[in-house]
Amino acid sequence: MPDLDWPAAARELAARFAERAARHDREGSFPFENFEDLRAAGFFALTVAEDRGGAGASRRTFLAVQEELARGDGSTALAFMMHSKFFGAQRESLTYPERWYNELCRGAVQDGWLCNTVATEEGLGSPAGGGLPDTVAVQVEGGWEITGRKTFTTMAPLLHYFIVLGRIDNPGGSPDIAQFVLYRDDPGVRIVETWDALGMRSTASHDFVMEACRVPADRLATRRPVNQADPRGAPGMAWFALGVAATTVGVAQAARDFAVAFARERTPNSQQTIKDYPGVRNRIGRIDLLLQRSRALIRDADDAWETSHGSQRRASEGQMSAMNRVAAAKIDTLNNCIEAVDLAMRVVGGVSLLKKNPIERYYRDVRAGLHNPPIEDRALEMLARAALDEPPPPLKANE
Ligand SMILES: Cc1cc2nc3c(=O)[nH]c(=O)nc-3n(C[C@H](O)[C@H](O)[C@H](O)COP(=O)(O)OP(=O)(O)OC[C@H]3O[C@@H](n4cnc5c(N)ncnc54)[C@H](O)[C@@H]3O)c2cc1C
Repeated sequence: MPDLDWPAAARELAARFAERAARHDREGSFPFENFEDLRAAGFFALTVAEDRGGAGASRRTFLAVQEELARGDGSTALAFMMHSKFFGAQRESLTYPERWYNELCRGAVQDGWLCNTVATEEGLGSPAGGGLPDTVAVQVEGGWEITGRKTFTTMAPLLHYFIVLGRIDNPGGSPDIAQFVLYRDDPGVRIVETWDALGMRSTASHDFVMEACRVPADRLATRRPVNQADPRGAPGMAWFALGVAATTVGVAQAARDFAVAFARERTPNSQQTIKDYPGVRNRIGRIDLLLQRSRALIRDADDAWETSHGSQRRASEGQMSAMNRVAAAKIDTLNNCIEAVDLAMRVVGGVSLLKKNPIERYYRDVRAGLHNPPIEDRALEMLARAALDEPPPPLKANE
């Protein structure tokens, strides 16, 4: 793959995405043309391993790309992240059998095909909660019959590979948790266009319905007993959580840029430019502080992850493990960015509410990542567990 300056290339694309964002947001339509731009510029292979023909971009580059894309259009950035983070995490954890890993990499690099994990259900909520999916796969002659309904299937209109989480019941025993690779033209599969959301409206995160969908045996990609930890766990969390955080920083940065440009220009009749009011100056300063803090947290978590290879152990007593730094960075960034966009709205004033200005979209989009894993309560519980439940260091004898 050519040695590209990926963040700079993302910035160029983001400028085009920004011009299309308002229409897609208003219509709730999927920005096919943005994905065609991403595909044509080679981004579908960004995080695919080099030995599989991809660019093998580092997590740091991936995060920089996410932030740049989100400055143009949060929906496109968040949706595309679902594809990129999958390959980044797989490079670290290699949990898919060769047959599927090769196929998914080849599809991304050669055919320009997108993949995403399709896990959430109405009854289950987030699978991160540990519940059992209602989607069930039954072994039949020559393969599997799968029935279920998934919600939040981001990029549903364009996905090629739907990696579906389901359960396999074992007579007399506890069920297994499995992942199946499905295609949009599999029998019994359909997409129901349910996505009409407050924010990230152009992600087309529709429902994916499987009615007695019969597929060959080799579509089963992974299988584990329900009480066994998900082997994708830790790297999946690092790429996903930090990817969400970086995307959210991009959205908040766009709001900040709008507010700064506005404050420099806006001069109500016979008054001074609003940038000279102390309240406006204070808010802009606070916005930059919040964004800087978020980037520092993301960088810290990424560095810790890189040097510890995702170890759950603390670098030293009193410090957070790499995993907990990832969780801390994600939830703090979300809160910082929500606050930053709120401050930007206050700087701009009444016209921040108008649909003709993009800042009202940023205000809605910036919230979405709150509901991607880890959610705040689970992240705080991780931090509390490390402090309160893990074995304490040995007491030092008095000298
Ligand atoms: C824009 C967007 C795109 C998405 N794309 C995808 C996708 O492509 N594929 C996919 O599979 N999913 C996707 N999701 C779904 C997402 O990952 C979550 O599964 C979904 O938002 C539901 O999570 P939840 O925590 O609200 O659900 P629930 O599990 O129903 O939780 C609801 C609430 O209960 C509380 N709660 C639940 N469990 C706990 C706990 N253990 N401790 C404390 N409190 C708890 C929390 O307050 C939580 O907010 C997407 C979501 C969004 C917003």
